[in-house]
Amino acid sequence: MIKKNLCGLTSDELYDLIKPLGFTAANAVSILNNIYKKRISEISQFTKIPFRLINELLNIAESGMFLPVESEISKDGSIKYLFRTESGKEFETVYIPENKRNTVCVSTQSGCRMGCKFCVTARVGFHGNLTAGEIVNQVLAVPQAGKVTHVVFMGMGEPMDNIENVLKACSIFTAEWGLAISARNITVSTVGLMPGVEEFLSKSQCNLTISLYSPFSEERHKAIPVENHYPVMKIMEMVRNFPVKKKRRISIAYVMIKDLNDTDRHLNELKAMLSGSSVRVNLLAYHSTASDQKCSSSPERMHYFKHNLIISGISASVRKSRGADISAACGLLAAGHKLNTPAVPFLSE
Ligand code: SF4
Repeated sequence: MIKKNLCGLTSDELYDLIKPLGFTAANAVSILNNIYKKRISEISQFTKIPFRLINELLNIAESGMFLPVESEISKDGSIKYLFRTESGKEFETVYIPENKRNTVCVSTQSGCRMGCKFCVTARVGFHGNLTAGEIVNQVLAVPQAGKVTHVVFMGMGEPMDNIENVLKACSIFTAEWGLAISARNITVSTVGLMPGVEEFLSKSQCNLTISLYSPFSEERHKAIPVENHYPVMKIMEMVRNFPVKKKRRISIAYVMIKDLNDTDRHLNELKAMLSGSSVRVNLLAYHSTASDQKCSSSPERMHYFKHNLIISGISASVRKSRGADISAACGLLAAGHKLNTPAVPFLSE
């Protein structure tokens, strides 16, 4: 008999599992309290659970929790963890401490199949979706789990390509019976798989970030192949027309590359695209890899963009880069894979 993993279950799913054994919905919540709040990975160690229920659970379930197999510490305090599932899927998670804010950046897939040209994860290939339990476990299994205040879905994989498990993980992160993290502190990032974005907006209250790279479609599609199917203009139109709840934040991630997407022409188009919307722009430094001739825009140029966006009425900030020295920054996660495919040229090259 295949045992059920408890980590990744909702309270309703767990109640369905234990109800035929004569247990209650309150018992289900108590079990999840052991998993999601106390982070106890041994069923026999669960507290405040009837003895008979513990014995039944040992027969039909496993905690589904597992520890990272490797870690690497950045000089800025970020820590990258490598996870490996029993079936051999590998993926990375980054813990990012900053003042009172402690963020875990989770992966949603092992590798990725979106093929973005600037991204190291794309060169790893695609090795499968992560289950909701494997996503949630990344937050439970880091040694700093008790301090986590924010979760960002910006690790390996395109979240909207695994939308069912991402939505389920979001509901476990936010539920009272789950980790009880505010939806305002959870952000899911996408390159713009439109059907997934639409489903995400209608079924979740968490924040959304869209990776842009260029406001010009003909440039963007050279870097982000999905632009061919779902042009960012259409996504922006959908986002603009979506009845956004007051507290949800929608933002654009704009990685700035010297002379490629940091010209005044790009700035003006960005302003035109976002004018009158409440979408925020996060300006990020580009991280080049060994085989890469491109480099990040200067801090001065990034602040020039920020200033010009702000005086045009568009909310903007320059985001601090974290963990670049351990390949933990945006677009650098490779889960320890040896990369034998070279970086692919993009944009105006
Ligand atoms: S940027 Fe995101 S969607 Fe694109 S290849 Fe990398 S992980 Fe996948």
